[in-house]
Amino acid sequence: MRTGPRWQANANHGGALLDGGGAEQAEKALVDECTTRVANMRQTLLWPKGGRVSSRRKEADALYSETLSMRAEVLKILQAGEPVLRQRASELSTKEIRSRAIQKLIENMRETMYNAPGVGLAAPQIGRGLQLAVIEDKPEYIKDSPAEFIRERERQPVPFHVIINPKFTLLESANVEFFEGCLSLAGFTAVVPRARMVRVECLNERGEPKVIEASGWYARILQHEIDHLQGTIYIDRMQPRTFMGMELFNQYWKGKSMGEVVKQILQA
Ligand SMILES: [Zn+2]
Repeated sequence: MRTGPRWQANANHGGALLDGGGAEQAEKALVDECTTRVANMRQTLLWPKGGRVSSRRKEADALYSETLSMRAEVLKILQAGEPVLRQRASELSTKEIRSRAIQKLIENMRETMYNAPGVGLAAPQIGRGLQLAVIEDKPEYIKDSPAEFIRERERQPVPFHVIINPKFTLLESANVEFFEGCLSLAGFTAVVPRARMVRVECLNERGEPKVIEASGWYARILQHEIDHLQGTIYIDRMQPRTFMGMELFNQYWKGKSMGEVVKQILQA
């Protein structure tokens, strides 16, 4: 799911929203440093005469490919129209979840979500029909939003986490309406009714069972991402009259309360 509208300092696309992730920057710098050091180590461990590979050289080669593989990649986010976005995704077994391939996929999805930037990304959005999504609502995404805007949406920072094979129960009926956006419908937004509270049973990135009870904006993110795993996009649930481009949303609607939006669009 998209991060939401940008306010003041973040009014332009990109920029400040993408930076400032101190911990991730440090982690990236560490991986870069390790990669360089291992690469240098490989250089000094020359191939001995006779072509036999020394065990230390083998070790350095293995370490090198491991550090290289730790560098997360930004994946391409698919747009509505791609068949995979309309298919029900497959469940993952605990063994699959713990595999190197899925662990790498999680890291790449995390990087892709930060880069977008978004608060959630489901595997079908990067072309993988798997019941897996990553979520994180960073404090900096809302630091410039008006207090009223945050309060109305009950939006709070949510730390990074992974949901796998989720099953959810709506704890309230789907009657809270706000504009939301999707990274697979780039440049658009619409009012989508969602339940204010949900309960989700899922597995985490280690394959351990988790129960999440969420309310407010976090509950909306969960519903949006879990919908993706069933081949559902927000346009299937939106108030069609409120569908619009982001630029026009920013021009006419961003600063309005939902009461005014309802009055002007839905009750017109
Ligand atoms: Zn989405």
